Amino acid sequence: MKIIADNKKKIVVLSAMSGTTNALVEISELLSKKDKKAAGILIDKLEGSYRDVVNNLYEYADNKEKGDQIIITSFEVIKSSLTGRFTQAAANTIISMGEIISTKLFTLLMEENGHDVKLLPALDFMRIGKDKMADLKFITENIRPVLEEAGDAKYYITQGYICRNASGGVDNLQRGGSDYTASLIGAAIDAEEIQIWTDIDGIHNNDPRYVENTKKISRLSFFEAAELAYFGAKILHPQTIYPARIHNIPVRLKNTLNPSDPGTLITSETSGKGIKAVAAKDGITAIKIRSDRMLMAYGFLESVFKIFAKYKTPIDMISTSEVALSLTIDNSKNIKKILEELDEYGTVAVDYNMTIICIVGDIIGEERGFASKVFHALDGIPIRMISYGGSRFNISILVPDTQKEITLKALSKNLLNHS
Ligand code: ASP
Ligand code: MG
Repeated sequence: MKIIADNKKKIVVLSAMSGTTNALVEISELLSKKDKKAAGILIDKLEGSYRDVVNNLYEYADNKEKGDQIIITSFEVIKSSLTGRFTQAAANTIISMGEIISTKLFTLLMEENGHDVKLLPALDFMRIGKDKMADLKFITENIRPVLEEAGDAKYYITQGYICRNASGGVDNLQRGGSDYTASLIGAAIDAEEIQIWTDIDGIHNNDPRYVENTKKISRLSFFEAAELAYFGAKILHPQTIYPARIHNIPVRLKNTLNPSDPGTLITSETSGKGIKAVAAKDGITAIKIRSDRMLMAYGFLESVFKIFAKYKTPIDMISTSEVALSLTIDNSKNIKKILEELDEYGTVAVDYNMTIICIVGDIIGEERGFASKVFHALDGIPIRMISYGGSRFNISILVPDTQKEITLKALSKNLLNHS
């Protein structure tokens, strides 16, 4: 609350309390498997923990009572799914309750402490289109009347993550989507700055779980941050940067545990030449298609890519030779069907459990001798694929995930000058 109530007018986007969305997802999965008993037990457990929260959160008895009422009404919504047919719409409603509860409880807390605060219902202006993508035009047009109706206030509170879909039903922006809500709202109201608060002091130049002495990056460009967001998804929802970039609004990543730290600032300005960071993404599958039909032929890549498009599977890295094509995917849900169809195009080989290591920075600025530095650092590491030149901000290397730690450390030592 201290972080928010700094006398500067703002819209505060809240996520659910820690662990809540996971619990709600689990409840809806149990219900879809018709395991009402197990779902009921989990619902009661979650409700119990929220009653404790309310009991400790408010000072005055009447607010404790109001808090209890919020919990009762919200859990009535969740429990209503225990009877009747369970649909995707019901699941989406359950999963949205974490943010509904957190924002109601928090608004009440701000009121108890005498702050000038209003709650904005995100479902009245946040929307995704038929393609499941956020509809920024709709959001921009609809947030104004919602703000007007709420009336003037210093602090507005709203729900992250949740939205409506093209048919008007409750939906969401995918896990971790509160960051994305914040940047969409920032773009919609043309905010001065978009801040994302987590419990680390910004983006680091390497993965602190594997490499010691990593350093916080104080400035990044939108493009560099977009390359990193896919990898450091734990810090930043991958789509967060886009609305901020097109509206040219600075994004600042801040640490709730250390609020005075300036964090990482992401702007349109390039933040200097050279390599900024190294990051990794696990769970990658590499697919190689070898075919003589590829030789001197046109349309081969198109036919192959069409298969991936048909199964809505994004391709991340690609690498080609005259008679073979290697590519990676991180969503292997439809892999069986994809492989069946690829079979028609040549000999297919698959490697599971791979890791993409990505090197991010303004790499063109380092052009001379850069590749040799990277290869030198990777001496002795079995590399499955390399992607260089797709963007001036990124080089990606594919290695077996058993080699991830050693690769991160080697790059860190040779490119970032720390061990
Ligand atoms: N509560 C949602 C989740 O856990 C959204 C978020 O935390 O950003 O995914
Ligand atoms: Mg989050």
